[in-house]
Amino acid sequence: MSESTIQIALVLPDLLGTYGDFGNAVVLEKRMTWRGIKAEIVPINYGQPVPDSCDIYVVGGGEDTAQTLAVKHLREHPGLQRAVTKNAVVLGVCAGIQIFGESFTRADNITHPGMGLIDSTSHAGGSRAIGEVLAEPANGLFEGVLTGFENHQGRTVLGPAARPLAHVKVGTGNDGSVEGAVQGRILCTYLHGPVLPRNPQLADLLIEWATGTKPAPLDLPAVSAMRAERVKAAS
Ligand code: GLN
Repeated sequence: MSESTIQIALVLPDLLGTYGDFGNAVVLEKRMTWRGIKAEIVPINYGQPVPDSCDIYVVGGGEDTAQTLAVKHLREHPGLQRAVTKNAVVLGVCAGIQIFGESFTRADNITHPGMGLIDSTSHAGGSRAIGEVLAEPANGLFEGVLTGFENHQGRTVLGPAARPLAHVKVGTGNDGSVEGAVQGRILCTYLHGPVLPRNPQLADLLIEWATGTKPAPLDLPAVSAMRAERVKAAS
């Protein structure tokens, strides 16, 4: 285990904070601290430079206008892109999966360039996808069903370099069939909730990628009960 502090960049929470996805950074920090791994959250707000030295980058969801401003900032200050070339771990949620791709076309039909971090494009769907989601892990990447809440107009098409994160059982995800994307150490999902409190196995996968060590089990009955309740509500 590394003695140094794992730095979790909370990317543009002032723009991409609409859906409470900062909770993903809190869960990563807590699950490491509880195991004796030093971790801290580094908020990066709009207008600030984006460091390339963090270990994990967490990007949340937001409205079309907010995500357009966010991608403009992240293209002008390409610290996250540099961090990816140095093997940083990245979590992108909803607007995150859209801005990480090659391009995204908004509900107003305007297409914007993305950050080119994953092999995908996004476009506006005919209707807004809102509600509980259940999805089965793809490629045995993690254990247990994925639970979350989606609220998005966009739909995402993956290219061959990006693998799906999961297969949709209830809800829409990327396109009604697959959910999320994994490319290298970049993991994306449409799911809020936020996704990591609801799916601690996913949080531990990101921690394993960041620390190089499989984290010790954590028994948190309240988390298991909340997860079971949300899965039942969606079934
Ligand atoms: N603005 C995007 C959409 O509606 C992303 C929404 C979100 O992040 N929940 O598709």
